[in-house]
Amino acid sequence: MATANTFDLSGLTALVTGSSRGLGLAIARGLATAGARPILNGIDAARLDAAVAAFRTEGFDADGLAFDVTDEAAIVAGFTDLDARGIAVDILVNNAGIQFRKPMLDLQTADWRRVVDTNLTSAFMVGREAARRMAARGRGKIINIGSLTSELARATIAPYTVAKGGIKMLTKAMAAEWGELGIQANAIGPGYMITDMNEALINNPQFDGWVKSRTPARRWGKPEELAGTAVFLASSASDYVNGQIIYVDGGMISVL
Ligand code: NDP
Repeated sequence: MATANTFDLSGLTALVTGSSRGLGLAIARGLATAGARPILNGIDAARLDAAVAAFRTEGFDADGLAFDVTDEAAIVAGFTDLDARGIAVDILVNNAGIQFRKPMLDLQTADWRRVVDTNLTSAFMVGREAARRMAARGRGKIINIGSLTSELARATIAPYTVAKGGIKMLTKAMAAEWGELGIQANAIGPGYMITDMNEALINNPQFDGWVKSRTPARRWGKPEELAGTAVFLASSASDYVNGQIIYVDGGMISVL
């Protein structure tokens, strides 16, 4: 049924993985501002607690759920805990991720696996737990966080590139299997954004200059600039959008 505001998330609960800082935190804040009850996640308990406290100060009914997205038992325990508290995840954002830079000729297999596990396998495992419960209710929204490397490779970040390419296809696989269950799975591909992950790159004049010259917007993106797309993909405004990846990148991926 159409509502006055199809972007309204009131009454819905949103779990955002890796939301104790960076893009996840900004996405969670955007979803909360649109009315959702945010559940924040991270590994570092102190950082997570601080983020939850800040949200509460801002007036949001926030909760924290600390688990490592690569730890299947911890993920299941986290969802079981939410079940016991009567909390249903209506919106899942698979955002947690790490970067690791090393030329492939020197790359250890353990580091390859760590990056792929954290950026890709995590989205499958957390997504599956969420989707099992969404399927029972006949509705749900999953937003996976990709990257420009979902399309394009860059030297020294092979496992990250492979994982983010996988995120694009995992999103389509989720749409293929879960669309008939009332679940929409889409992805956001952020461009170069100002977060801790990019600190060294932002402080490197050569890299900073490359980003600015290569991006039509001539600047890095701000984390809060992902919020609008996230709200759209979390809301009933996107009920017939499934399996897509939307790039929020100042135009970078569209130009040579
Ligand atoms: P940050 O390093 O700033 O934040 C990462 C967040 O993920 C933190 O909250 C961290 O928690 C959490 N996290 C990391 N590993 C795990 C784990 N195993 N389990 C649970 N939580 C974890 O990263 P960004 O905000 O920059 O990136 C967020 C996402 O966006 C990533 O998927 C990244 O690949 C993607 N992205 C980022 C871009 C950018 O320019 N910044 C561009 C394109 C995509 P803790 O604080 O406990 O460590």
